[in-house]
Amino acid sequence: MAPKRRRARTPTRRAPARAPFETIRYAVADRIATITLDRPQVRNAQNTDLILELDQAMHDAAADPDVRVIILAAAGPAFSAGHDLKSVVGQEAPDEWRRLRATAEGRLRHERELYVEKCLYIQNLPKPTIAQVQGACVAAGLMLACMCDLIVAADDATFANPVLRMTGAGVELLVEPWEIGARKAKEFLFLGDAIDAREAWRLGMVNRVVPRRRLAAETRAIAARIALLPPVTASLVKESINHTLDLMGKRDAFAYHFMLHQFMHGTDAAQRALADRSRTGSIAAMVRERDRPFAGRRKRRS
Ligand code: ZN
Repeated sequence: MAPKRRRARTPTRRAPARAPFETIRYAVADRIATITLDRPQVRNAQNTDLILELDQAMHDAAADPDVRVIILAAAGPAFSAGHDLKSVVGQEAPDEWRRLRATAEGRLRHERELYVEKCLYIQNLPKPTIAQVQGACVAAGLMLACMCDLIVAADDATFANPVLRMTGAGVELLVEPWEIGARKAKEFLFLGDAIDAREAWRLGMVNRVVPRRRLAAETRAIAARIALLPPVTASLVKESINHTLDLMGKRDAFAYHFMLHQFMHGTDAAQRALADRSRTGSIAAMVRERDRPFAGRRKRRS
């Protein structure tokens, strides 16, 4: 575990000469910063290291006067599978953040400081951001992509939030009503089924759908055009649109959902799901066992 070293690095955000990132890649060219999630072996599941390094890179890009647009990309076949649950509830040795989760107030702090505040920083940082999404974009991976101002999706991209199927009250920020509307959000969350890039585009969550092999080039072309805007123009209009969403209730709705999400963690249902997960060996097995009485009916109807 390396949190101590990362901690020491945090106050030196602007210093260009620091240890290279291990879970992301960071590059600046042509006034565009590209931050690439780089844990493809686990579909870019977000563990503590990745979240802290991503936050660092976003601060670097925000502070760098040579950067006008930020692309959030991902290595490998998937954008992000969500939070790395192995590092939160699995067998891995706990880091300082996971140790906090032993108490309800510690869990609140963990999720607020590491998940909510770092996501909202991305949402509101004063430069345009573009998520470049291929493959699976799941749960907290979807939450992360939705923090960006634009989403460009490859034609193989799929979006899903199966957390309700796993018992949880969604992830920490309930982005879905804002992204696809309340009625579709309920279907999307209750059923947990993935939607493809075309459907995500039709619902307004995604700006463009492009062939997989063209994804990076098309995203870059859009970023290059946005980079032509005077930075202050882009920044002020982004702030104004985000303010509009906050006047529509987004900020309060996020805060309210986060408290319900915290409450859910303490419910009997959530505790039972955790125990069932340990007993059956995986979340998938736990859900399979719970859904088994209905499996036959579902098969007949399909
Ligand atoms: Zn949570």
